[in-house]
Order: sequence, then structure tokens, then C-alpha cells
Amino acid sequence: LASRDFHPEDTIIDIRGVKIGGENLVVMGGPCAVESPEQIDEIARLVKASGGQVLRGGAFKPRTGPYSFQGVGVEGLTMMAEAGKKHGLLTITEVMTPEYVDICAEHADILQVGTRNMQNFDLLRKLGTCGRPVLLKRGFSATYDELLNAAEYILAGGNRDVMLCERGIRTFETYTRNTLDLSAIPVLQSLSHLPVISDPSHGTGRRELVEPMAKASVAAGANGLIIEMHTDPDNSMTGDGVQSLFPDQFDKLLRDLEKLAPLV
Ligand code: PEP
Ligand code: MN
Repeated sequence: LASRDFHPEDTIIDIRGVKIGGENLVVMGGPCAVESPEQIDEIARLVKASGGQVLRGGAFKPRTGPYSFQGVGVEGLTMMAEAGKKHGLLTITEVMTPEYVDICAEHADILQVGTRNMQNFDLLRKLGTCGRPVLLKRGFSATYDELLNAAEYILAGGNRDVMLCERGIRTFETYTRNTLDLSAIPVLQSLSHLPVISDPSHGTGRRELVEPMAKASVAAGANGLIIEMHTDPDNSMTGDGVQSLFPDQFDKLLRDLEKLAPLV
């Protein structure tokens, strides 16, 4: 079902008028984690003012260590939904377990599967019937074929609204947090009709590399970007402040991107 042979035309996912896929460029922006109502409200205002269409933010965070901040949980879903509604943005949030799919689907417009859960097959099966579009992140050691097979689990359950996301893979290079695999964008688009979104934030782990790699992703044909932005990155509650853009950098990036593709 994910293959271009089965479905030659690009899939376009229309969420309340925001079209993901085809010629338009979608920008999802926001903090790594939802921290407080004030934080997410202010960031939502800035994302909207810059022309982004989707507010990102994690309420449930998949942390490498069990003692790190794990996210504010269900309350974060409500905070985000309110901010999205107030500022006229769609919302995307990560869901980590099948048990939380329903509550996340109740509050968010798009559900995100994180890199560590790409092959959580019970979660993927549950997302096949969740009634919401899904952004499926590539596992940091997964091949294109494994990513497409993971997407197939969701599609096979009856949910045809799946986006693929390149977020960087693990290589021998340690200067960057991950290696953003730009080739994934045209390769996945040739193998599949599903929209391809690039995540230059996790793909590099370094703020100064987000702008060039965002532009490179769009030049390579990405249908959208998911970018971390924070009003106070140095005091953010996850370690991802180092890769989060300041609001003025996010704004400048979107101004530049508009020259490359329409932000509709
Ligand atoms: C995130 O989007 O904040 C995140 C945890 O992403 P990934 O699963 O790609 O590491
Ligand atoms: Mn993050």
C-alpha cells in the first residue's frame, strides 16, 4: 500500500485545509517538550506569526535515561490543544504506547511515532485505526525498506494518511548528533507516494546546522519540515535546547523558505 506501484499519484493529506504532500511546503514548529501553558501559548503565537501551519510539542518524551524529564503527560495534551486552537494551528505530538493512542488522537491533529518506536508493531497497528494522520519517523538504524514496512502496518489497518520522516541516522560521525540522510527524501518519494518530511533539528543536533539542512531538504524535494523552536532554549526541560532555533532564526528561515516553495 505504501508503494508507488500501487498508488502512482502523490498522496495529499488535507487537514482542515492544510495540504501535506504535492507542491506545498508544510512547516511544523515548536518546542521539543510542552513545559507549561504559557510556554506553549507563546511559542504557538510565534509559529503562527512566522507562517508555520503546525505546532509541534511532546507531552510524552522518549528519554534515553529513566531519570531524565519524561514530559508533562496528559496535561500537556490539553495545553497544546488550547494553544493550537487559540492561534489557528494544527498540532502534532508523539505517542509512545498503544494505550495512549486514543487520548492523543482526541487532543492532537497529527500523531508522531518517534525514531525509537518505528518498529513498535503493536503501536503501529493501533495507529491504523486511530482516525488521525500519522508522522512516522525513521528509526535511527532503519533502512528505507524497514521504514516503508513500518508504514505498511499503519496503512494496512485502514489509515491511509501517513507521512514519512527522515530525522537522521546513526553513523560513525560524532560532530553531529545524527547524520541527516538527504538521499532518503528523493529515494522515499520514488519508492512511495507518501509525503516526506525532514527533521533537521534531530538530524543534526546543532542549532547552526538547522537552517542549511532545512534548505537542503527542501531543495531535495521534502514536502515539509519539523523544526524545534524555543523562546528560552538554554533553559528548556529536555537536552534539545542546543538544537532549538530562537524565534528570530525560525522566522528568518521561513522567510527564506517561502522563496523556494509556497507555505500554504
Ligand atoms: C522529538 O521529535 O522530539 C523526538 C524525540 O524525535 P526523535 O524520535 O526523532 O528522536
Ligand atoms: Mn526533541
